[in-house]
Amino acid sequence: MLVLRCAACRKKLWRYNKIGKGEVLRCHKAKIDRDYGNCSTDGDKIHCICGNTIGIDKGSYYKMIGKAFTYSGKKRNA
Ligand SMILES: [Zn+2]
Repeated sequence: MLVLRCAACRKKLWRYNKIGKGEVLRCHKAKIDRDYGNCSTDGDKIHCICGNTIGIDKGSYYKMIGKAFTYSGKKRNA
């Protein structure tokens, strides 16, 4: 599990079940394990409560903005 944080304010955004290696470019909604309640959506964009735009809602997943968030934890090897 990875914990994603806002790069601007360091708040936890969500816990994510990342499978496989590689960067987190997309977050599939079905694999978001826990939402910490610090995100809000505005049209097709998703923001942290501090106003930092984190990604774009693409329907089944979020296309993540690389510099807008950080993550820690372990990726699960498929
Ligand atoms: Zn923030």
